[in-house]
Amino acid sequence: KILIGSISVAYFAVKWTAPSFDPGSLKGARVLVTGASTGIGEQMAYNYAQFGARIVITARRENILQQVAEKCLSLGAQEALYIAADMASESDPDKVVDFALDKLGGLDYLVLNHIGSTPFSMWSGEVDHVSWLMKVNFFSYIQMAWRALPSLEQSKGSLVIVSSVAGKMPSPFTAPYTSTKSALNGFFGSLSHELAMKESNVSVSICTLGLIDTESAMKKVRGITKMPAYPAAEAALNIIITGATRQQELYYPWFTQIITLCKDWFPSATNYVIQNSLNYNP
Ligand code: NDP
Repeated sequence: KILIGSISVAYFAVKWTAPSFDPGSLKGARVLVTGASTGIGEQMAYNYAQFGARIVITARRENILQQVAEKCLSLGAQEALYIAADMASESDPDKVVDFALDKLGGLDYLVLNHIGSTPFSMWSGEVDHVSWLMKVNFFSYIQMAWRALPSLEQSKGSLVIVSSVAGKMPSPFTAPYTSTKSALNGFFGSLSHELAMKESNVSVSICTLGLIDTESAMKKVRGITKMPAYPAAEAALNIIITGATRQQELYYPWFTQIITLCKDWFPSATNYVIQNSLNYNP
């Protein structure tokens, strides 16, 4: 208890000294959000809209993107454009960045958030699925980041990566997904060092999320875990603030960071809790 108390005090001390967020800084900001037809990405689009940003959103389903873009305009976005794309394709990631650069005249924020659909179940040898998921959840992120980097450099912009606690702390039923998130953490953690060493203008924020109440996540975990899920709109706002204040990391909800520390410090106990918190009858 003393240990957890001390960690919590240290955590909040760091939070209080975090740079303060100026909502006005997002007025007219040029933003590209991926995976914005549903879930956290959709909520981020609405938040950016309320701050008066100029947004490009993308996902595969054009009709839904159109509805989200219309709502963004009604919420106050200076501009809201959409482009349908499949991030499993070789060319679509570049096409989306080029569209945003062309329509917005550059980028201030690239928010990489999309994920391909993957089952929440025991690994049973679906190698092709892992390869496909890597393309969608990982390679397309690298491709888009590289394409957008010169513009972000010019605008002193930010690269925001939406990751997961799964990328820091593997848990059962998520082997393919966990691989992609670990890969993101590794790649963008390394890139962040290199940009800092080159005195680049670009900030990199890696956002570690716990369970969030999006429709797709809830459908998967229903009946399997009783872990509480946190609101997508609040997760979205926290991600946006992290990018706007150029912080390197976000943990949402806040105790997610403590859980990852527990895994490092007390691995056997944490593994026991993880395995026994899930409903599974062999
Ligand atoms: P959703 O499943 O709600 O949304 C996924 C988005 O990605 C949709 O807009 C979907 O739109 C798009 N998408 C799916 N496949 C493709 C594809 N092949 N090409 C392009 N776009 C695609 O996800 P969440 O909102 O729940 O998650 C958002 C982010 O948050 C993810 O990075 C996830 O890992 C992270 N996260 C979420 C957690 C949670 O509990 N919800 C927990 C931890 C992290 P469309 O179908 O139209 O293509």
